[in-house]
Amino acid sequence: MQITGAQLFVKALQAEQVDTLFAYPGGQAIDLFDALYGAAVPKVILPRHEQGLVHAADGYARSTGKTGVCLVTSGPGATNLVTGIATANYDSVPLVCFTGQVPTGLIGNDSFQEVDIVGITRSITKYAVTVRSREELGSIIKKAFYIAATGKPGVVLVDIPKDIQKAMGSDSYPDTVEIRGYRPKPSVHIGQLRKALELLNRSARPLFLVGGGVNIARAGREMTRLAELTGVPVVSTIMGKGAVPSGHRLYVGNIGIHGSFAANLAVSKCDLLFSIGTRFNDRITGRTETFAREASIVHIDIDAASISRNISVDIPVVADAKSAISALLEKAEPLPTGEWLAQLERWKQQHPLRMKPSALSPQAILQAVNHCFEDAIIATDVGQNQLWATQFLALDEHRRFLTSGGLGTMGYGLPAAIGASLGNPRTDVLVITGDGGMQMNLQELATAVVYELPVIICIFNNSCLGNVRQWQEMFYQRRYSSTCLRYRKSCPVPCTGPGENCPEYTPDFIRLAESYGARGIRVTTPEDIEPALLEARNRKNGPTVIEFMIEREENVMPIVPAGNSLGDMILGEEDNVYGKKMDQPAGRE
Ligand code: FAD
Repeated sequence: MQITGAQLFVKALQAEQVDTLFAYPGGQAIDLFDALYGAAVPKVILPRHEQGLVHAADGYARSTGKTGVCLVTSGPGATNLVTGIATANYDSVPLVCFTGQVPTGLIGNDSFQEVDIVGITRSITKYAVTVRSREELGSIIKKAFYIAATGKPGVVLVDIPKDIQKAMGSDSYPDTVEIRGYRPKPSVHIGQLRKALELLNRSARPLFLVGGGVNIARAGREMTRLAELTGVPVVSTIMGKGAVPSGHRLYVGNIGIHGSFAANLAVSKCDLLFSIGTRFNDRITGRTETFAREASIVHIDIDAASISRNISVDIPVVADAKSAISALLEKAEPLPTGEWLAQLERWKQQHPLRMKPSALSPQAILQAVNHCFEDAIIATDVGQNQLWATQFLALDEHRRFLTSGGLGTMGYGLPAAIGASLGNPRTDVLVITGDGGMQMNLQELATAVVYELPVIICIFNNSCLGNVRQWQEMFYQRRYSSTCLRYRKSCPVPCTGPGENCPEYTPDFIRLAESYGARGIRVTTPEDIEPALLEARNRKNGPTVIEFMIEREENVMPIVPAGNSLGDMILGEEDNVYGKKMDQPAGRE
């Protein structure tokens, strides 16, 4: 039977079992939307901005394990996806993004709403393609879903010109796909794994480094069993957090520029770093020359290109984390790690993660979240709110975490939580955000309201862009350039504040929430934290915005200044190393 390209598009989504499509219409996508009209599946979600849309698809994908699917029009619709595409691709999130395009005969003419979206996104996607003929439409869509979800997951963009959407052609959609040279699931190389195990058995101070790949492979349970079987302690990147429960006796903490004292020291002092599913990016290595310098390094990763890219390793193993850990479980044995564990425990006790006491500290809020929500998905924004969340949220397979790690995209939290809530209607979904990040995709409050999503939005309002403000305080002699969100035209320049005469904060988040039809609660005292969270938890037919008025000068500690080794942490004012380290050469953030 002959059908239009647009009809085949809908048939393809149904064949790929896409239940939710995040979509925003426009002139060059109108035929695709017309074909979707009245279809029972997929359910079409209309966010309020294409950036919100793609983050929502990302949150949906991360929280369900399915591929997130987007549909937008050409030109500005397509370019509004760019930040979200880069965000997802960096963090290995499977997305298929469809963009409408001007008719093939007009491509290259600077036509109305024409951009070369394939060229723009080539370096931030796994694959991007413009469909050139109606005949290849089905096979390209099939490939797109396959490539996005297999191997190291990522983003695929399919650009469909308007004439191809309208053209008649075959109604058949392929069942299988074959791409020459693309081997997404390498089988575990048993010889390499045996070598890795021999090294593990010989080491005196072994350490597992668990990265995002373990969560992507959904191998947390296997990883926890491996740690328990061998007695080897575990540190994680923030993307690997939760794979081994944060409260587990063998879990030491996050590593990196905001890692814990014990975890960073463990990396510096271990004699074997057995790493699984991590990219060794600069946020976790600090100065690469001194990273884990006393250790041999094993690296298991599904992507051969990730291995020895930033840190050269002794034993590379290209494999899926779940398959590799399962194979290790068959051969691994208990190791005498008692003394090493005792040393790690001493380091933990010496400098635990803690904040300076303040009236309404982020630590107290996050601990209340731990207390009130056993089963939840927690999305963060980017900045201090995110880093405190990585430090103080207790994560495991029940309390899961969505964050923009690689790109560090402000504005990610709210739309990602909307996607997670749509994909997990029976799970509580929270957003930990800042007053800066919240304003970057604020319009998505409307999406949460109209789809009656009970998302709980916790705004840590310190009336500034806190992470950059912290760097200015610590490394730029308190020259607070463009980080105050209370600034108004009437303020003195340069600012000498903050002080009593600071202008009112704008917007009023509570009135703003109410104007959208959401519930708004402002919390100014510690006693009100849990009641606010519980009230929000009980509200099941729409979002609640809780604005926590936190101190402006609250900092994320420890911190490794840019260009330093992981061992060179500034721990905090109370440890009296804060001032000393401030004299070190400033790095660029
Ligand atoms: P990812 O970036 O998710 O990489 C996953 C790896 O696993 C890739 O190599 C991939 O090929 C591989 N993989 C994928 N699927 C599989 C599979 N099935 N099997 C095996 N391997 C697989 N991070 C920290 O850890 N500490 C910090 O202090 C820190 N500070 C930050 C500060 C800010 C302000 C921001 C925005 C981010 C910060 N980050 C920090 C996050 C950091 O930028 C990186 O996102 C993070 O460290 C990456 O962790 P990862 O390499 O483990 O995971």
